Amino acid sequence: MLKKFFSYYKPHKRLFLIDFCSAIFVALLELAFPIAVQEFIDQLLPSGNWDIIVTVSILLFIVYLLSTFLQFIVSYLGHKLGANIETDMREQLFTHVQRQSFRFFDNTKTGHIMSRITNDLFDIGELAHHGPEDFFIAIMTFIGAFAIMFHINPELAIVAVVTLPFLIVLVTVSNFKMNAAWRNMYGRIADVNARVEDSVSGARVVQSFTNQAFEIKRFQQDNGQFRLAKIAAYKVMAGTHSSIYMMTRLITLLVLVFGAWFTYQGTLSYGEMVSFVLYVNVLIKPVDKISALLELYPKGMAGFRRFLDILEQEPEITDSPQAVTVSSLKGNIDFHHVSFGYDDTQQVLSDIDLSIQSGQTIAFVGPSGAGKTTICSLIPRFYDVDEGSITIDGIDTRDMTLESLRSQIGIVQQDVFLFTGTIKENIAYGKKHATEDEILEAARKAHLEEFIQDLPLGYETQIGERGLKLSGGQKQRLAIARMFLKNPPILILDEATSALDTETEKIIQRSLEELAEDRTTLVIAHRLATIRGADRVIVVTKDGIAEDGKYHELLESGGIFANLHNIQFES
Ligand code: ADP
Ligand code: MG
Repeated sequence: MLKKFFSYYKPHKRLFLIDFCSAIFVALLELAFPIAVQEFIDQLLPSGNWDIIVTVSILLFIVYLLSTFLQFIVSYLGHKLGANIETDMREQLFTHVQRQSFRFFDNTKTGHIMSRITNDLFDIGELAHHGPEDFFIAIMTFIGAFAIMFHINPELAIVAVVTLPFLIVLVTVSNFKMNAAWRNMYGRIADVNARVEDSVSGARVVQSFTNQAFEIKRFQQDNGQFRLAKIAAYKVMAGTHSSIYMMTRLITLLVLVFGAWFTYQGTLSYGEMVSFVLYVNVLIKPVDKISALLELYPKGMAGFRRFLDILEQEPEITDSPQAVTVSSLKGNIDFHHVSFGYDDTQQVLSDIDLSIQSGQTIAFVGPSGAGKTTICSLIPRFYDVDEGSITIDGIDTRDMTLESLRSQIGIVQQDVFLFTGTIKENIAYGKKHATEDEILEAARKAHLEEFIQDLPLGYETQIGERGLKLSGGQKQRLAIARMFLKNPPILILDEATSALDTETEKIIQRSLEELAEDRTTLVIAHRLATIRGADRVIVVTKDGIAEDGKYHELLESGGIFANLHNIQFES
């Protein structure tokens, strides 16, 4: 995992090197300072040569300016490095999610993806910057400081580090505990995010059931869980920090006491004593840094693990190596012994055989949950069949590139998803780089023109979040306009008008019929009145395809379809 983590530094090698070298320089200057002080006290002061004293003071000042500048570079470039890596990862994650198949979105909560793209990556970025830099610098300063202390006075150096084993044990144990605590906290915040996402997207349902209190209660539970997890994590952190603090002050105290004794004995000069106390601080600093890393490392790594969890989920449906690009398909669709289930628990389709001629309009009817939508989802390979195959114009859909296959199929569903943006942008979603004329033409064909012209801003009118400012019928016509632009040879209308009132449905119906002309069209319809013009009607039930024939034939045969028909038209 660590190796994977470091692979993200590759594109930013230069930045990393500059940052790293500056950090090493800062550390070296820090190591040199106490020696300078020692010389100052032991050699310069007794000499009384004020010319040299002043010159050395000025030199020290210049060195410190340099050090300050280098620290600025370290802090600035280091964070820039972290931000770069974080951005790369965020982009990679988003790209990966875009490539995922339907099943991934069936099984993944939006809120969970959101928290990975924001919180988790933020901590990874922090770790990416502080991690290697602080770690190496800390070790280097520590070893350097100890070596110099040992050189000055071995006994006192050993006094200074006797508490070290305790510190190491403490730090290891805390590391372990902190890791678990942060992972738990991340899980809880993801739950909170998922809950918010659910309640806000479903706000209209919540309010219509007046379930706000219920939602608040559920949120309080999740939020409370997050609070507990966070408090627990911070408790571990506070415990670690304070015990490390205590250990480090203990070292200073020991050095002071023993140092005083050695000075009294005459084995330690005043300059050495002062420099020793200063070195204790240099020695402690890396310990502080490491302990900060201990907080950052598990946090960042927990986030990185969760980042990898998504990244390691390969898209289920991809192009096969021999996939060909198809264009201008005629639209002869054949199902050969197709079986399919969303999971192992339930077989939705078994052994379906179906042959659809190009240019025809085929209506699918039947009880809800029978598998009509599922049949249509298999054609653009939103899911792959478990057994059997689907061919279009004789070519297996799995032998076509996904992009070209899907470019040949247009789908209009019951809910139209509109993106934040203008009406024009939303229509143009059907065809990237559509010209102005093409967009206007599509709007005209979808009978949207009049409505748009009446708006003060016309095509530039912003559509509110999820297009709530448009009525159901208007949204549906916008979806139809997208289809006119996309102009696919195969069209799927999945209950496209089911949510509309009969009056609006009738108007939309005309646009849909115009859209269906010269295309192979599969219509899933609830209201039978809308499918009178279909070339063929297929009745789907839980047991598969129950009836297949012309509208009036099925009506006369007195089967399931005739029954459905009677129920709808009696009332
Ligand atoms: P219809 O369109 O005829 O109403 P569907 O094709 O939507 O029926 O659903 C057929 C069956 O598959 C139903 O039992 C439904 O619960 C199940 N189903 C539909 N979509 C999914 C999904 N994304 N994940 C799991 N099961 C699903
Ligand atoms: Mg359906």
